[in-house]
Amino acid sequence: MIRKNSLFCKIIRIKTSSKFLFLDFMRSFQPKTVECPICHSKGNCKIHASYSRSIIDIIHGKPVYQDICVTRIICESCGHSHAILPDTIIPYSQYGIFFILRVLAEYFTHLKTVASLCEAYNITPSMLYRWRDMFLQNRSVWLSILDQKEQLPKDFIRFLCLMEHFSDFSSGFFRLTGSSFLQSHANPTALFGRKHF
Ligand SMILES: [Zn+2]
Repeated sequence: MIRKNSLFCKIIRIKTSSKFLFLDFMRSFQPKTVECPICHSKGNCKIHASYSRSIIDIIHGKPVYQDICVTRIICESCGHSHAILPDTIIPYSQYGIFFILRVLAEYFTHLKTVASLCEAYNITPSMLYRWRDMFLQNRSVWLSILDQKEQLPKDFIRFLCLMEHFSDFSSGFFRLTGSSFLQSHANPTALFGRKHF
């Protein structure tokens, strides 16, 4: 799996969807420019296959199911194939990054009760608590790696939402921890990312 950074906008002001940014990124994607995360050779990847999956986006404040077509590339040097996932897509999650951050922002700022949040976004309390716990765990890892002082959850989410380029954070998080922000479990190729530091 190869993570690509396409989320070049402030999440809180976003006027678009995860799918739109995904398509926008893939339009200009060139496999020849990719470095293989397994063998680290450059210029040896080509389009291999694709598969469709659905993501749940947030559009005008409402959950919307969208289909996307994920490209797989193959490295002709080592023979491994990799899915290309821009950072609007969380690996193994049906929910786009905007969706989860929006729910968590409303949760941590106490804009709504858990019951009304779950009803508004068509999620269960256990999903909400799982995202909350993952967010808190990822936040602790990030702050401890950077040796930064503790931040309240709502301050950390505000920091993320107001970033000029969210991709700077998401690519840094992936580089330093070997997995994507808010990803529930690690993927095998992510282990190779750790080699870089
Ligand atoms: Zn390779």
